[in-house]
Amino acid sequence: MAETAKILSPNKRVLIPDLDAGCTLADDCTPIEFSDFKSKYPDHFVISYINCSAAIKAQSDLICTSSNAVELVKKLPFNRPILFAPDQNLGRWVQRQTQRELTLWPGSCIVHETFSEEALIKLKIKNPEAEVIAHPECQSQLLDHADFIGSTSKLLIHAEMSSTNSFIVLTEPGILHQMKLKMPGKVFFEVPGIDGCSCNSCPYMRLNTLEKVLKSLQTMSPEIHLEESIRKQALNPIEKMLRMSS
Ligand code: SF4
Repeated sequence: MAETAKILSPNKRVLIPDLDAGCTLADDCTPIEFSDFKSKYPDHFVISYINCSAAIKAQSDLICTSSNAVELVKKLPFNRPILFAPDQNLGRWVQRQTQRELTLWPGSCIVHETFSEEALIKLKIKNPEAEVIAHPECQSQLLDHADFIGSTSKLLIHAEMSSTNSFIVLTEPGILHQMKLKMPGKVFFEVPGIDGCSCNSCPYMRLNTLEKVLKSLQTMSPEIHLEESIRKQALNPIEKMLRMSS
């Protein structure tokens, strides 16, 4: 996200409180490996989820978010095959929603991969009135239990608009805080990870603490720098997304 801010605003200073605050989707899709993968599908149109590095964006034809991925894929011409990266779970969900065959880069988010289906079923049995709401980065077998699937912002809006008062939430639990603040009268259940672990909390996001934000502002570092050629190439598919979404 910090890189995306820099791609869009090259003349502004973009700070990141902790340089190690990465993301498995971005870290496990390196530019060289992705370029090799792409070379096997030279006729494919490449659409990449925004949770990828600037170098991967630079190799893509179009960027999408979890909010607009389905809508954008539906707009792509039928006569051109599509390669989707880097999240295979989101890709599979888009595939189901659009009935388009996608070639998937085999990446995934460690957080959304750790939810336990067994724990989810137990929660559903204990709380039959609760609606299951899920982020499309979750694996298909978990999404099959969901009453509503959407991006983080769509999950929030759905919970607000729904007449239901309790929800089982399948996404990074940071959103639960915001949900509880906005809807104090509603109940939100967090689904634990496999074997009850708490790996469903993103270790990368947790690195950005308030103390580090303060230090970053005091020292005006660490700062994001991008090679201008990469930035310009990465800007094209982002601008294309913005044009296609408007
Ligand atoms: S939850 Fe963490 S690892 Fe997963 S997509 Fe978000 S930043 Fe990446």
